[in-house]
Amino acid sequence: MAKVGFIGLGNMGGPMAANLVKAGHAVTVYDLSEAALQQAREAGCSVASELTDVTTGADFVVSMLPADHHVEGVYLGDKGLHKVLDTKTLVIDCSTISAETARKLSKELAASQISFIDAPVSGGVGGAKAGTLTFICGGDEAAVDKARDVLNAMGKNVFRAGDAGAGQVAKICNNMLLSVLMAGTSEALQLGIAHGLDPKVLSEIMLQSSGRNWTLEVYNPCPDVMENVPSSNGYQGGFMVDLMAKDLGLAQQAALRSGASTPMGSLTLNLYRSWAQLGHGREDFSSIFKYVTPQTKK
Ligand code: NAD
Repeated sequence: MAKVGFIGLGNMGGPMAANLVKAGHAVTVYDLSEAALQQAREAGCSVASELTDVTTGADFVVSMLPADHHVEGVYLGDKGLHKVLDTKTLVIDCSTISAETARKLSKELAASQISFIDAPVSGGVGGAKAGTLTFICGGDEAAVDKARDVLNAMGKNVFRAGDAGAGQVAKICNNMLLSVLMAGTSEALQLGIAHGLDPKVLSEIMLQSSGRNWTLEVYNPCPDVMENVPSSNGYQGGFMVDLMAKDLGLAQQAALRSGASTPMGSLTLNLYRSWAQLGHGREDFSSIFKYVTPQTKK
């Protein structure tokens, strides 16, 4: 059993912390939201009254926060954890942030002899609840190996992509591809519906044909084709449009820096940003299905 401090109990972090408790770890949590803390308490976590309290005696500190500035603030800010972390504690950041920020954290914490790995995840809220996430790690091999027991309590795959920041690079490559698959699947379904096809039948046809992809398998964007997915729940409770737009922004920044050509990623970034600007930022990213609704014929 390990002692784990956990920061960020949102759609992903809440169920991840609960799975750590189920696996027998002692988990102390912190979040800005009282509702999130209450749920964690009910799941068997201890609640810290201040951020820095999560580090007390911790073998691991895990964070699952929205974006770069949240993570940087929590670890390196004026009241940040870098001032109180013990050298025995391994820091595991599971948020999706830029590779640069992950490398900066790794370097600054290493200056105080604190080990850090970036370990962003794939698998969505369903994977977080079921404990079947994929962790995509960056950091030295010994640190990734040390994290495996804790990560395996929340997921089923642990990959090491390379040194610090490499997990974040692999993660944004994956999410850029996911955005293209989601937008393309939505367009295909809307085209079929516009021609009178039943979306359930069309989904089954594409699932058994060359258009098969993860969105059709487990995350269909058309309402009522699948149960227990955000599209059948008013596009609530999944991976927010705002977060997908953030990840696509990170992918484009990375592409600019490296000279990589990512025209499809650029298209989906624009699509998701404008969908967010139209007021859908807090809906699940499969709501892009509604953006490609056919125009009514005059
Ligand atoms: P979320 O917005 O549901 O949760 C974020 C949580 O962090 C909230 O509870 C918020 O109160 C808390 N928080 C923010 N600032 C804080 C601070 N300074 N101190 C303590 N708590 C703070 O987000 P999410 O969907 O859980 O996503 C978290 C991360 O995981 C993001 O980087 C996202 O890109 C990534 N991710 C999400 C999904 C998904 O399907 N939702 C899938 C893979 C990766």
